[in-house]
Amino acid sequence: MKSQDIRSKFLSFFEEKKHTIVPSAPMVLKDDPTLMFINAGMAPFKEYFLGNAVPKSNRIADTQKCLRVSGKHNDLEEVGYDTYHHTLFEMLGNWSFGDYFKKEAIAWAWELLTEEFGVDKDILYVTVFEGDKEDGLGMDTEAYELWKQFVPEDRILMGNKKDNFWEMGDQGPCGPCSEIHVDIRSAEEKAKIPGKDLVNMDHPQVVEIWNLVFMQYNRKANGSLESLPDKHIDTGMGFERLCMVLQGKQSNYDTDVFTPIIREIEAITHKEYGKDEKIDISIRVISDHVRAVAFAIADGQLPSNTGAGYVIRRILRRAVRYGFTFLGKKEPFIYRLVEVLAQKMGHAFPEIKSQKQIVENVIKEEENSFLRTLEQGLVLLNRIVEETTDDTVSGEKAFELYDTYGFPIDLTALILNEKGLKLDQEGFKIQLEKQKTRSRAASEMSTDDWTILYDDADEEFIGYDTLTANVKITRYRKVVSKKDGEMYQLVFNITPFYPEGGGQVGDKGYIEAANGDVTYILDTKKENNVIIHFAKELPEDVNDVFKAIVDDEERARTEANHSATHLLHQALREILGTHVEQKGSAVQSKSLRFDFSHFAKLTDEELRDVENFVNARIEGKLPLEEKRNIPKEEAIAEGAMSLFGEKYGDTVRAIRFGQSIELCGGTHVKNTADIWHFKIVSEGAVAAGIRRIEAITHDAAKEFYFDNNQAYLEMKALLNNAQEPVKALQNLQDENNNLKKQIEALLKDKAKNVKGELKSELTEVNGVQFLAKQLDLDASGIKDVAFELGGEVDNLFLLLAAENDGKALLSCYISKNLVADKGLNAGQVVRDLGKYIQGGGGGQPFFATAGGKNPAGIQEALEKAKDFIA
Ligand code: ATP
Ligand code: MG
Repeated sequence: MKSQDIRSKFLSFFEEKKHTIVPSAPMVLKDDPTLMFINAGMAPFKEYFLGNAVPKSNRIADTQKCLRVSGKHNDLEEVGYDTYHHTLFEMLGNWSFGDYFKKEAIAWAWELLTEEFGVDKDILYVTVFEGDKEDGLGMDTEAYELWKQFVPEDRILMGNKKDNFWEMGDQGPCGPCSEIHVDIRSAEEKAKIPGKDLVNMDHPQVVEIWNLVFMQYNRKANGSLESLPDKHIDTGMGFERLCMVLQGKQSNYDTDVFTPIIREIEAITHKEYGKDEKIDISIRVISDHVRAVAFAIADGQLPSNTGAGYVIRRILRRAVRYGFTFLGKKEPFIYRLVEVLAQKMGHAFPEIKSQKQIVENVIKEEENSFLRTLEQGLVLLNRIVEETTDDTVSGEKAFELYDTYGFPIDLTALILNEKGLKLDQEGFKIQLEKQKTRSRAASEMSTDDWTILYDDADEEFIGYDTLTANVKITRYRKVVSKKDGEMYQLVFNITPFYPEGGGQVGDKGYIEAANGDVTYILDTKKENNVIIHFAKELPEDVNDVFKAIVDDEERARTEANHSATHLLHQALREILGTHVEQKGSAVQSKSLRFDFSHFAKLTDEELRDVENFVNARIEGKLPLEEKRNIPKEEAIAEGAMSLFGEKYGDTVRAIRFGQSIELCGGTHVKNTADIWHFKIVSEGAVAAGIRRIEAITHDAAKEFYFDNNQAYLEMKALLNNAQEPVKALQNLQDENNNLKKQIEALLKDKAKNVKGELKSELTEVNGVQFLAKQLDLDASGIKDVAFELGGEVDNLFLLLAAENDGKALLSCYISKNLVADKGLNAGQVVRDLGKYIQGGGGGQPFFATAGGKNPAGIQEALEKAKDFIA
């Protein structure tokens, strides 16, 4: 069965069982401080289990893109070495939110695998939670009895808390689970060791394919368990592993999920998969990693130097490294695999198709820059090798290469090995540990438990309609970090403060107690669904009722920038074309920043057109038309733009100004006239094929024009209030150029005259034509005079001095024959005499110059000059 059919069969099976099928959520998470990427099918539904939100259906099924490369689940280092762990994989899942429970979950899993997919029952094992003393839990007999209907008892295995009890976090919903494992070894192998001895033993052909979690408890803060009133089902089946089983393969990479990518890698690199373990690992690494990186970029996460972007950059670099080292690829090629992905997966995940070009561009650019790093690193490494006198390269040197130049340590080790040298691995580890300690110390943070004041209060955002409200604090906690020091996080029952999100900054303001005491709110952010207000201190009486007041001026500026961002987006698509898609946005009170896909620098004319387009809509006084809680389909049908990688609910908020319609949760002006004016201040590139525009509106635009006008008026005043200042300036420049030319000519004449004078002042000392004198010339004038005189007079020794802008200058000229015959040296002369002018200098034996800060010493230097020839 083809992988595409396997995926659809899973979904249609559960659709028949009354499940609502939903698309995969974007992989990149925006407001969850505990998680960067979705790492399990349940992650997008966390809020339902926690009771913070209500699902649209209590039965859901989906396939979810998961990425296990950081945090609690990190399979990165295994990937490529084994045949069944990926960075990005699809998790097929069926969900019950307070609806069906173990009976149905187990029966349906069995029915789907053995009847629909026809998996041989004799290769399946299931596990059941054995119980746990500490938690006072017995074995999950309920599950055991249910499995017994289908599975012989010797294939039902007991599992401990680690494998068979699933918890979302330290607190919250949890419960026992049952896993389904397959044994796909040959009959011969099976005869040697029974499959049940290999379950959960990391055997590549005895692997877990499906985990059924029965959420029936709640873990309380004190660690004890209580029964949940609503019991839930959360299942996750690895799609690629299922394909391996159903397609009769021994490795996920031999399924049609991966073979097209592997064939393409073979074609590009002229290497063959399945002949040499090193090459095989590399091909697996690359075919896996390109999926993770491509989908992350399609979901809006560009590679970068920090956070989630850095994780993506590291995955891509791991792939480049394997290609570089083992497949001999010194030029970018991974981007060429995106085409295959788009063809194979575009059906189930349309984002990879529509974003193909941008994904290719970004990957190519990243590959290029990392390959350059590798090349530079190789040069440095060769230098280190040359400097190494014994047979070991020190850990410090390797660390420097790794830390400063981004050169991977395993590559260093490999190259040294080829050159017959050793690497001090221990020394390297020590350096790495030191660095980790340093950065840990810098980012250390301690978070207290929440103090709950009112447990049942719902928090609601009311800041679309009002900027003030009477609020109560429902809970608060203290957070201490190196960066911000001590901070309090407050949660209110209702709040007018907009939490940072959708590119828009969080609101600032204050809350005022009944007695007039004020606590400033410095920022507002969202964690999952909870709106958190940041304050430097706690109000004296936290149980008070407070008047919450949002800083309305800041908010108004921010809203102008946000609405202008929508108009800018519309303008760019209108003027540059519909390939323009939003790739990032930052809306603040001072300015706005908008990143978008486009392949060339915008011309001055295009920029002017964009500005005019936006300003025409500001002048058109378009009213805000806001629709809250409308079905997403309805909004899209009306032409609303939605963004890839943005997670939308089933109902959305649509923001419309004229023909600009966007799905948006941010706050906006009531009328485009409130934006006042839109002005672009910069345009540039942020990554391959991605441009950035920065612009200002509202007060900032007024200030911009005011400042510009002010500067203009000052300039005009300096031009004596000329009627036509530009012309006046032009005249001034022309005049200035003429004067310069005249001065140059005059100086030349003067030098000629000076030369005549000097010639008559020469005296003979010991057969040398000698003169030491201060002149009213600059350095180049003195040099000219000295050389001209030198051309006419033999046996010449000149010391010429000048004072310019408070600084002293000494120049010494000595005829070349004197240098040769008498061992005189102009450089030596100015160095010696330099001490009188508190300076130094040098030059050639026949001409040298010294500068100093003490003009008062010139006279003495001149008097001493004769000593050199006396
Ligand atoms: P394993 O022990 O094999 O790493 P797990 O216990 O981490 O699996 P779960 O967290 O229960 O797995 O995830 C549910 C299912 O997702 C697994 O049964 C498996 O089929 C699949 N799965 C988990 N991790 C990966 C991965 N890195 N690559 C591919 N599939 C995976
Ligand atoms: Mg795992």
